[in-house]
Amino acid sequence: MPHLRTCNLCEALCGIEVERDGDRVGAIRGDVHDPLSQGYICPKATALGDLHHDPDRLRTPLLREGATHRAIGWDEALDLAARRLLEIRGAHGRKGVAMYLGNPTIHNLGATLGSQVLGMVLGSHNRYSATSVDQLPKMLASYLMYGHQLLMSVPDVDRCDLFVMLGANPLVSNGSIMSAPGMKRRLDAIKARGGRVVVFDPRRTETARVAMEHHFVRPGTDALVLLSMLHVVFAENLVRLGRFAGYVTELDDLRHAAAGFPPEDTADVTGVPAAVVRGLARDVATAGRAAVYGRVGVSIQEFGGLANWLVEALNVVTGHFDEAGGMMFTTPAVDLVQLGTWVGQKGSFGRIQSRVRGAPGFSGELPVACLAEEISTPGEGQVRALVTLAGNPVLSTPDGRALDRALASLDFMVSIDPYLNETTRHAHLILPPVMPLEREHYDVALHAFAVRNTARWSDAMFARGDDQRDDWEILTGLSRRMLRKGDGLDGLRDKAAALAQRVVTPRRAIDALMRIGPHGYRKGLRDGLTLDKVIASKHGVDLGALEPTMPERLHTRDGRLHLAPKELVADLERLRARMVRWANEPAGALVLTGRRELRSNNSWCHNSLRLVKGPARCTLRMHPDDAAPRGIVAGDRVRIASRAGEVTAPVELSDEMMRGVVSLPHGWGHDRPGVRLSVASAHAGVSVNDVTDAQVIDALCGTASLTGVAVEVTRAEAVVAADAAE
Ligand code: SF4
Repeated sequence: MPHLRTCNLCEALCGIEVERDGDRVGAIRGDVHDPLSQGYICPKATALGDLHHDPDRLRTPLLREGATHRAIGWDEALDLAARRLLEIRGAHGRKGVAMYLGNPTIHNLGATLGSQVLGMVLGSHNRYSATSVDQLPKMLASYLMYGHQLLMSVPDVDRCDLFVMLGANPLVSNGSIMSAPGMKRRLDAIKARGGRVVVFDPRRTETARVAMEHHFVRPGTDALVLLSMLHVVFAENLVRLGRFAGYVTELDDLRHAAAGFPPEDTADVTGVPAAVVRGLARDVATAGRAAVYGRVGVSIQEFGGLANWLVEALNVVTGHFDEAGGMMFTTPAVDLVQLGTWVGQKGSFGRIQSRVRGAPGFSGELPVACLAEEISTPGEGQVRALVTLAGNPVLSTPDGRALDRALASLDFMVSIDPYLNETTRHAHLILPPVMPLEREHYDVALHAFAVRNTARWSDAMFARGDDQRDDWEILTGLSRRMLRKGDGLDGLRDKAAALAQRVVTPRRAIDALMRIGPHGYRKGLRDGLTLDKVIASKHGVDLGALEPTMPERLHTRDGRLHLAPKELVADLERLRARMVRWANEPAGALVLTGRRELRSNNSWCHNSLRLVKGPARCTLRMHPDDAAPRGIVAGDRVRIASRAGEVTAPVELSDEMMRGVVSLPHGWGHDRPGVRLSVASAHAGVSVNDVTDAQVIDALCGTASLTGVAVEVTRAEAVVAADAAE
């Protein structure tokens, strides 16, 4: 009998069957009985075995002594970490110790729960995470419009007939804030039932190629396209509020905001013809079942807050909000919205600002684009110590070289991470947790953003070694030590805490949350969902299609759905000013966007040979018409330079790129000294974040603008034959 579990390498939640070959991982297949993924897996799933057996992974704590590392025991390591963090907090105050949570935290139950505990113990405003290089603008729109940062809408892709995507490539990602494994099957099904799939993207992506329509859009201008669509909806009296008519507020403000952006006025800047915008606006407004969905491309840009607001608003005013086939909300077994409400985490905006440049905080976090300067700039509140968890911000956040320098200057850094990578090489101490197959798992976050309500538990496949620790144990162990008072009672408190740690486990927490969740006790003591029932199901429990949950679930103070929050309306002036600058940009100017690929997930999987072998994938893609005037031909190495820095990469010429836009994938750049990633270093590529600019953010919410970076591209040298051979 194979081991059954959820693959936790990305948001798609694929059910997998893992064969065991003695003490090694054997074949990995898709679980055809999984109610969400139905047998689908992508090539990355096989990397779970590579991660598990990776000779480069760390198994015991590493203490850095100059340029070398020495293995030490867990008690010594945790004692040292707690002592140094307390010393620095004592000398520099709470703000002197910062924390950064990487994206894998959310894919790991123990890390998700344990990071909350450590965050409370640290009590610092200097909290950073991958959120501000990702979905923060969508959370902001949800907070301002619906009253809760986690009320994030998900396209009901399996029932919609017109699916419009902006800045999303789910054929490669399998969905993001839309866990939807097997996306090609789902898109084909839309087409088979006579529906239509439309993609807006500055690159003809893998998704665009299977869609029925693709429209190039200039990076950063999605908000203008959406405003123009809303303009048409209002001008042609196509508003349909349906059962929300009595619940929406600020409809006239939205009408007024859109009135100034007719499609004919925005087309030259966005690159999307006015006729396309007008036609699609009418089609969305009159479609029976339609969903307009924006993802990372409309978030990590200068106007991500506006774009995410307008996506939501367009769905609401065209009757595709909280209706089957439109943008809906999940009712997962563990209801994060409910939980967030109980613990007072519905969200907050503008309550804190970063010290150096006054950038806005969101929900108790500061923009990670500010982290380097918060470390490097002297003064009260300067960050002098850092805890990183499952993150590699040197590669994943803007101006990685500046962050590299800043991290090297810290008084103390501790990283909870299984690898000695581009970020953790700066850590004085690395605390390596177990790998995915050695821990039990429930995807507490991602089930909440899936296209179907399901629940699946994963047991650990391999017992961990006596000298290994789960993220939960590391985080709570460190927290416990930081709470010691040195008053002679610490021994007793340690014993009580150790007992509590055995009683309050992530597994018990999930069980309790399921029992009080929407499928728990409310369905009756006998019929309610419990963790035991989920575990017994082996392939996962199908809790059904998404169902309407609004307006009862709105969390705004007045119980209304706010169509035009004042903070967002005020930001339109900034967009207008930028529109003028876009219109006056010199002909031939280039901007850079990122690129996600099926065999790569940020920087996580690059030490798996089976995923990185073959032709080099870290290439700059460029339209031939942009290359020719620069004397660039296919295979050349080119220098990509911005205000922040420069890198050199091989070029691929392709008309999949919009003219004026070049693309480089993210997560690469493993050539920094001192890392212990033998496969990744041999396939290093370059880091796109050595070019992105930490000073260019969405001024509204602080999210880094990683797409639309102004660059110059020049021929670096003649074709290097060795590159082709590599
Ligand atoms: S799509 Fe994501 S969850 Fe599914 S197999 Fe691939 S990496 Fe795993």
